[in-house]
Amino acid sequence: MSRILIVEDEVAIADLEKDYLELSDFEVDIENDGLAGLQAALNRDYDLIILDLMLPGMDGFEICKKIREQKNIPILMVSAKKDDIDKIRGLGLGADDYMTKPFSPSELVARVKAHMARYERLVGTNQKPQNDIVEIRGLRIDKTARRVYLNGEEKIFTTKEFDLLTFLAENPNHVFTKEELFREIWDMDSIGDIATVTVHIKKIREKVEENTAKPEYIETIWGVGYRFKV
Ligand code: CA
Repeated sequence: MSRILIVEDEVAIADLEKDYLELSDFEVDIENDGLAGLQAALNRDYDLIILDLMLPGMDGFEICKKIREQKNIPILMVSAKKDDIDKIRGLGLGADDYMTKPFSPSELVARVKAHMARYERLVGTNQKPQNDIVEIRGLRIDKTARRVYLNGEEKIFTTKEFDLLTFLAENPNHVFTKEELFREIWDMDSIGDIATVTVHIKKIREKVEENTAKPEYIETIWGVGYRFKV
C-alpha cells in the first residue's frame, strides 16, 4: 500500500484530505507542525508528500528544500495564496506540483495518483536494489550497509553491538534472557560470559538512548532480560 504524508496545520483540511486519500486505498499520516513534518518526511518511508506552505515551526519552502537534499519522492505543495505558487515555482525548490486552496478533494486524489504513477515508472526503470531497513521511531537500522541512524544522525556500532541491536529491534516486544541473547549473537553454547550481554546493552543504550536511566528502546525486564519497546 502506498503511504502519503500530509503536512498541514489546518486540522480540518488535513482530515478531509486524509479521508479522501484513504477512500482511494492510500495509507495516510498527518503532521500539523513544520518541524515534525520534516522529521517524519526524512525518517519514515513515504511515496508522496502533500506539503502546506504556511506552517508553524518551519515553512513549506524550507521543508521542501531539506527533503529534496535527501529524497526524490513526489512533493505536492499547497498554499492558500496564488502568489505563493508563483514564488514556489520561481525558487525551483524541486516540488513536483502545486495546488491553490481551496481545491476539491477529488482533484487532489487525481493529482496524487498521477504523480505516484509517474514516480513508480521512473523508479521502476532504473531501480536500484533497496537496502534492508529496520525503522522504529527515530531509529533507523540499515542492515545492508550495517549502519545505524538516530534521528538522521549516524551512530557508530561495533559488529556485536550492531547484531544485538538489530536482533532486538527485529523482534520487538519479545523478552529475551541474557542467555538467549548470548547464544543468538555470540553463536556459542552458553560457555562464554553472559555478562558480556549486559556490557553490550549498556554501550548500545549510550548511543541510542537520550536518558539511559529511562530507556526508550531497550527495556530491562528485571530478573528476566531485555525487550525492545515499540
Ligand atoms: Ca497553513
